[in-house]
Amino acid sequence: MLLEIVKYGDPVLRQKGERVEEITPEIKQLIDDMLETMHEAHGIGLAAQQVGKALQLATVDVTDVEDRPSRMSLGGEPVKPEDYMPLVLFNPEWTAVGDKKEEGPEGCLSFPEVYGEIERPEEIDVTATDENGEPMAFRCGGLLARAIQHEWDHLQGILFIDRMDAFVRTELKPEFDAILAETQKALD
Ligand code: ZN
Repeated sequence: MLLEIVKYGDPVLRQKGERVEEITPEIKQLIDDMLETMHEAHGIGLAAQQVGKALQLATVDVTDVEDRPSRMSLGGEPVKPEDYMPLVLFNPEWTAVGDKKEEGPEGCLSFPEVYGEIERPEEIDVTATDENGEPMAFRCGGLLARAIQHEWDHLQGILFIDRMDAFVRTELKPEFDAILAETQKALD
């Protein structure tokens, strides 16, 4: 079932997600619905907050992005990221590998049509629980690392505008304000 994507200004986007300890039938349904919603919206990531649920759950799929490469490795062995997509991440955590950071353009399904440059660690180690309740651990870089960091932020109630430098944020402010006004009208 397609879910409605929550837009900037909705308070749920500022809520930290609760940990998910058990994959119940309701959670399984939510995973299916989030994957369908993410794909339909042509997004590469979706957090539970973006469909109105403050939970530690995000989906990611970078398969269809050809112009921005992703890397992934398991136990030190490089693998094809597309073989592991879509990713379903419960209670994810990450740490940066080395000090390399990279600037790149980012968008967000909760901010239609807004794109801004954001600097983030280029390579990260990720741990999470998968859709079967099994632990997973992998290293990733490029777009996949960026997408996972963006989704992790959502799970903490952090939005990509918080990560933009002041200049970019000021430049985009009229667009943020327009989304905010729409959201508030819809919530009233
Ligand atoms: Zn987002």
